[in-house]
Amino acid sequence: MIRLNDITALVLSYHPRADIQIIEKAYVYSAKVHQGQVRLSGEPYLSHVMETAHILAQMKMDVVCIAAGLLHDTIEDTNATPDEIERLFGAEALRIVDGVTKLSKLKFNSAKERQAENVRKMILAMSTDIRVILVKLADRLHNMRTLGFQPPEKQRRIAEETLDIYAPIAGRMGIHWIKSSLEDLCLYYLEPDIYENIQSTIAQRRDERDRFISDVIEILSAKLKEHDIKPIIKGRHKHFYSIFRKMKDQNLDVSQVYDVLAFRIIVDTVRDCYAVLGHVHSMWKPVQGRIKDYISVPKQNMYQSLHTTVIGPYGQRMELQIRTWDMDKVAEEGIAAHWRYKEGGVSGTVDEKQLGWVRQLMEWQQNLKDPGQFLESVRMDLFPNDVYVFTPKGEVKEFPMGATPVDFAYSIHSEVGERCSGAKVNGRMVPLRYKLKNGDIVEIITSPKGHPSKDWLGLVKTSRAKTKIRQWVQSQEREESIRLGKEILEKYVQQEHLSIPNILKSDVLVAAAKELSFRSVEDLLAQIGLGRASARQVLSRIRPKIETKEEKGSGFVSKVVDLWRRRRDPAGIEVTGVSDMLVRYAQCCHPVPGDRVVGFITRGRGVSVHRENCPAIIDSVPERLVPVNWVPPRDEVFPVILRVTSVERKGVLADVSAVITQKDANIARAEIQTTMDRKGISFFTIEVKNTTQLQEITAAIKKVKDVLIVERL
Ligand code: MN
Repeated sequence: MIRLNDITALVLSYHPRADIQIIEKAYVYSAKVHQGQVRLSGEPYLSHVMETAHILAQMKMDVVCIAAGLLHDTIEDTNATPDEIERLFGAEALRIVDGVTKLSKLKFNSAKERQAENVRKMILAMSTDIRVILVKLADRLHNMRTLGFQPPEKQRRIAEETLDIYAPIAGRMGIHWIKSSLEDLCLYYLEPDIYENIQSTIAQRRDERDRFISDVIEILSAKLKEHDIKPIIKGRHKHFYSIFRKMKDQNLDVSQVYDVLAFRIIVDTVRDCYAVLGHVHSMWKPVQGRIKDYISVPKQNMYQSLHTTVIGPYGQRMELQIRTWDMDKVAEEGIAAHWRYKEGGVSGTVDEKQLGWVRQLMEWQQNLKDPGQFLESVRMDLFPNDVYVFTPKGEVKEFPMGATPVDFAYSIHSEVGERCSGAKVNGRMVPLRYKLKNGDIVEIITSPKGHPSKDWLGLVKTSRAKTKIRQWVQSQEREESIRLGKEILEKYVQQEHLSIPNILKSDVLVAAAKELSFRSVEDLLAQIGLGRASARQVLSRIRPKIETKEEKGSGFVSKVVDLWRRRRDPAGIEVTGVSDMLVRYAQCCHPVPGDRVVGFITRGRGVSVHRENCPAIIDSVPERLVPVNWVPPRDEVFPVILRVTSVERKGVLADVSAVITQKDANIARAEIQTTMDRKGISFFTIEVKNTTQLQEITAAIKKVKDVLIVERL
């Protein structure tokens, strides 16, 4: 078992002034709370967290991160509480431990192909501190190293998950050695025969290979020396998993995979990199299409190198990577290389062209002296605009930040979206405006009677949902317009004493639609309903044709009584001559029973009732106005706004209020302003049953002392 001393010594080797107290404290604490717990290997549980911390030290992490490595299983597996961790080790350490704990609670079922990328993104998005991922990777690496103690089924499941999720994440973070270690371990558990085969083949050819490597190094060094370049050249076989991939991709047997050898040439300057590439190609023939310039176009994880594959001295293919020392560090350690403690400040220059988040991290880091501060600033928005949630079946879906269950519903199927009536998140009912959070398990409740609403447009973030809702709203509005258009036309037809059903069904209307260049009768009706076409004009077109066909007024009474049955609106208004209309009260003039009122046919929202002298309707086209009547009052109240102007005096407001209440009206709102000329203006929103009551109230207010004017607004 690794000892605490091994870890602290390693940390002090790359950061001599590190404050290792926190590591020692974390060790003591972890040993205490994990006391008595044993791994399947029979080793004390503490060994696992020690190994994890050691891997983090190999990644040259800061002391807080290593302490978090020692503590990473305490919240989940022991009695330790978040409060205690925070009190003893600080908020930063808690944040990392907490993040790792959250990740370990996620349950992915098969994370294959299409799913895997979303799962990876979800993990990254959930790691609010980049060190959460690094601890998780270290944890996973040690678990993979000790996987042999698990039952075979679990071995397979964990190896698959590691290969699909964690190895690619290590790759994305640019930490090559962790990525290849994980991949080789996965291959060992998932394809034991192939692993064995590769291993023995490579072992058999060991002498041959060693000779080959030293020959190549010798030839290359001599050549480069002529040109004053003194490189370090390393030759090695590729890691097993990449050999396996090659076998699989090209359908080869392991003995047929020739370019298992890779050379790395490390030089001082970028200029030397390109020079070396030229010399290599002058000696050995390059393989077409295998030259890659990741120096001028770095990979997203900031990896830089020149790659080429050539036919080597014995006719064997071999791969060469050419890079500077700085590039080599980035290639091996990835993101970890960027914030490590540095004696001489930050090294490595940032290429202008470097894209993506790592570049951003670099830029931040360069403005900061203290790596702790850097880490603080990186807590961490790798995918700040995305959120990842689970379906009830464990599938991961990606949404823009701020998306709601409605977006989720439409992403399943547009029918689910349209019938969506509610949602459960993590088993609890939430409102549809709920904003999805990373890791939420979302379940949509549908109802056969459910339908979208215009308001949903304000709830959704995905364009798919937006488009679908808009389509639905438009089709609804069109239906409503057609219905209105029909009613407006009917009203005119009635005034002309013509027979309605015959007109609407007859082909004269079809002809009229055509003449007026509408695509269909429905189109024509919709345009009338929207107020864009004149019913009068349409009628004048069809009238002559109708009259020749029909005797004016025949059967009028019975048909009209049937069709134009008067309907009492629940809100206390009847719309003369129009059936089944949606009625609402205008908000501009607040009509009250007893007022002279008129109906205004709105675009797609039924009839709104205005006072006859309301300025909002004075200029509207006459055909959009319909007569309406009050029906005998019921227990309904209507809002009215009164403006009371008075001499400024304490108590006027109270006096007026008292009068209103005496007259049995409710005050919904009262507000007072003082003018320059020492007058008080109060606004009362009161609720009255009808104009009679309103008049009584107005008269009573006028009698209050110091009141000058009472006006209805
Ligand atoms: Mn662990």
